[in-house]
Amino acid sequence: MNKSTNKKNQRVASLPDGAVFIDKEYRPISEAKISMLDFGFTRSDATYDVAHVWQGAFFRLEDHLDRFFRSLERAQMSIDHDRDEVRDILIECVRLTGLRDVYVAMVCTRGLPSKTTRDPRQCVNRFYAYAVPFIWIATPDQRKNGMHMVIASIPRTPAKSVDPTVKNYNWRDMARGLFEAFERGGETVVMLDNNGFVNEGPGFNIFTVTNNKISTPSEGVLEGITRLAVINICEEEKIPFSLARITADELLDADEIFITSTAGGIMPVTRLNGHVLGNGAPGPLTEKIRTSYWDKHQETRYQTQVFYD
Ligand code: PLP
Repeated sequence: MNKSTNKKNQRVASLPDGAVFIDKEYRPISEAKISMLDFGFTRSDATYDVAHVWQGAFFRLEDHLDRFFRSLERAQMSIDHDRDEVRDILIECVRLTGLRDVYVAMVCTRGLPSKTTRDPRQCVNRFYAYAVPFIWIATPDQRKNGMHMVIASIPRTPAKSVDPTVKNYNWRDMARGLFEAFERGGETVVMLDNNGFVNEGPGFNIFTVTNNKISTPSEGVLEGITRLAVINICEEEKIPFSLARITADELLDADEIFITSTAGGIMPVTRLNGHVLGNGAPGPLTEKIRTSYWDKHQETRYQTQVFYD
């Protein structure tokens, strides 16, 4: 289990709607406000990370902290808090909610420009963190029976333009893709890259199962922590696995498809572009990975405990 140093000397947990750390203070989530002039708002110039707490413990928090600090560096941003302080801030936000299943975000925006220049180097980057009740990107029915996915007709913003490994809010492409998916009767969308290879979707990585082998896109995507958890499960359970470049045809021919996100774990896709996959139910390897993923939450090596009042 990872060390947590949250102290029980502050306010009692009384914010079940959510708690935020903003301007170096903890407040109710309803008081979380940023300036309209912040480049994070006017330019989508921000990076962030999302971890989750399940049954009172963070899952793989150190991996999220690694990724967040890597994103800050790649985005040429810096914050006033070191890794230990960020960990303590996140834990304190969760403690203040009193919740056991929690969606926990850390965010850094470019900040406000100075009055005389638009030079982003002159902005003072701003750090925020918040904890709110667990968010699922799929409904209970979709998680049980699978989602209907549509392959977007517009490509994902090229990775050379917006680095997808720096977790970001540049979602115009995916928002367009989602509207298209809804128009075509789907429930979610997957994007292709400019070369026609399968990429990722709004808030998730994608996996295929073909002839009992699991694959996920090797490049041009966010290196999801849930994706990493699946890779580790495949290694440990000796399930054939590859990082690959997957074509749209290979996706259409897959035996099973599932998506992965901190906001929901492993979620089955049972229809693609209107075609039913297999017998229409979540496949056996998807179910096996899903079970292992939630079992991993009980392993102390992946846990950072939150000490509530
Ligand atoms: N891809 C994108 C674009 C995302 O926004 C997310 C999560 O928000 C993911 C993949 C999944 O990453 P993780 O498993 O770390 O939640």
